[in-house]
Amino acid sequence: MNRSSSSEAGSNAISGGMRSGDVRCLCAKLSVVRKSWTDDNPGRRFYGCPNPKSNSCDFFKWFDIGRPYGWQKTSLLEARDLIREQEEELKKLRAMVGRDGKEEENKKLRAMIGCDAKEMESKMLQLENENKKLKQELAVSYGKEKMGRQFVIISWVGFVCVTAVVVNALK
Ligand SMILES: [Zn+2]
Repeated sequence: MNRSSSSEAGSNAISGGMRSGDVRCLCAKLSVVRKSWTDDNPGRRFYGCPNPKSNSCDFFKWFDIGRPYGWQKTSLLEARDLIREQEEELKKLRAMVGRDGKEEENKKLRAMIGCDAKEMESKMLQLENENKKLKQELAVSYGKEKMGRQFVIISWVGFVCVTAVVVNALK
């Protein structure tokens, strides 16, 4: 199946929105389809103005006719909140390891807008992994002092061994 066929336009949303076909906004531009992540309409797509917020005409029209409901709605909300929590945690962890992750974060948030449930799931896994990695990094930098001492001892033992081997070889 051709993924880029227009009948499937909804499934391959690109960050920042995608072309909507023929729906035009109030500035007569082709509108883009974005995803809502509000409590009432998680994951529901809508048409909007392609211009940046500063000169947007605020055109709004639902792309998906039905409202989200039932367990799908609940799980979308849960996924959204989990992602937000993870993002928050990542922000804190990044600050702790002294990494300015602002650019990265923005990219991720942009990518999150307009992804479907499956993508959200893999995104969450990614976030979890990054959280784990950063936590390990933190543990390492906190334990550096201890590690440093261990390293000195290890290299001292190594030095003695090498010296012994050299001395033996010279014999
Ligand atoms: Zn517009």
